[in-house]
Amino acid sequence: MPATATLPPPAFAARATAVAGSPIREILALTARPGVISFAGGLPAPELFDTEGLRAAYDAAFAASAARALQYSTTEGAPELREAVAARASARGLATGADDVLITTGSQQALALIAATLVEPGDAVLVENPTYLAALQCFGQAGARVIPVPCDGDGILPDALEEIVARERPKLLYSVPTFQNPTGRTLPGHRRAAVAEIAARRGLWLVEDDPYGELRYEGTEVPWLAAHPGARDRTALLGSFSKVMAPGLRLGWLRAPAALRRAAVVAKQAADLHTSTVDQLAAAHYLRAVDLDAHIATVRAAYRERRDALLSGLGAALPPGSDWNRPEGGMFVWARLPEGWDATALLTAAVSRDVAYVPGAPFHTGSPDPRTLRLSFTTHTPAEITEGLTRLAGAVEAYCPV
Ligand code: PMP
Repeated sequence: MPATATLPPPAFAARATAVAGSPIREILALTARPGVISFAGGLPAPELFDTEGLRAAYDAAFAASAARALQYSTTEGAPELREAVAARASARGLATGADDVLITTGSQQALALIAATLVEPGDAVLVENPTYLAALQCFGQAGARVIPVPCDGDGILPDALEEIVARERPKLLYSVPTFQNPTGRTLPGHRRAAVAEIAARRGLWLVEDDPYGELRYEGTEVPWLAAHPGARDRTALLGSFSKVMAPGLRLGWLRAPAALRRAAVVAKQAADLHTSTVDQLAAAHYLRAVDLDAHIATVRAAYRERRDALLSGLGAALPPGSDWNRPEGGMFVWARLPEGWDATALLTAAVSRDVAYVPGAPFHTGSPDPRTLRLSFTTHTPAEITEGLTRLAGAVEAYCPV
């Protein structure tokens, strides 16, 4: 019998290969071994999870109706969780009804739904530079032309934004205005007003990603971009329970104008039908039984101490001529090494001394700044942070580029 010729299977879709895997995830794998003091991950501290409260909430969800908790449910989300999200958003100064909210599988899914709903291949999408890596992946996968907006230590420069919007005619601006990942920066209120005004005048969607806003350690809250006149009917606001409850729940939300929300619901139907029913109902029970704001206050107190430990030791650890910021909240400090240094090269010396951070280069669009790095302060105690900085100082001493 003649052998049957076999053909290779057809090629992957271009979007599946257009975007590389996250280099940060690879660094995280490298630093997962015991004994490493890692400033690399952007993880909440697990010892601060309210394990007992969450366990009780799952029990309550099963006790109230196991049949409901284990059944398929609506794409929009459990009404009581949508209600709770709306109440929390309203309490933060943005009048929100349960119907304005779509529950998503982490806020990451909201980003993917927004990219699927708004972005056609070739559309210009504006981002802060640097910005959240997985947002770059989402927009890249959708085929966007991702264009960086010049930023300073406070974030987006409105004049530069105006110029780019006029030139590139973008579809949307993606921003993490509060305690940004990776820089920890917060966009001041007057710049938010300017961004909202530009968006309204030039016809632009705003995607406001706010997973960190409730983690404020000092200073006063800055109103959401979405709350500014002109932005209300053109902003997709993304929130998350990951940093204030637990990321393993995979619960986030999208607040968007009706037409955009409806389109996102259809995109979500295609993606996963709905977010886990039992997780949503447990979260809703948790929000009824526990004072989440009191829990957040505990988390804030611990993170404030950890941030302060990092900030007070950083000057002795980094080479002279380095600079770094002092974020008022969130999880990250952003630093820059002196001229001639390279944060990726220094990382090798750091990892061999059992300390790690993330180089800033992958967060950049266009030409990266090789001297930058992101340090997360949430997952180690102040004593461990101090020890990590001593190790980092050793790495700096061993690695001298000039
Ligand atoms: N946006 C930003 C800026 C983030 O840093 C993260 C997580 N690190 C997310 C979105 C996704 O969060 P989640 O899906 O857990 O809600």
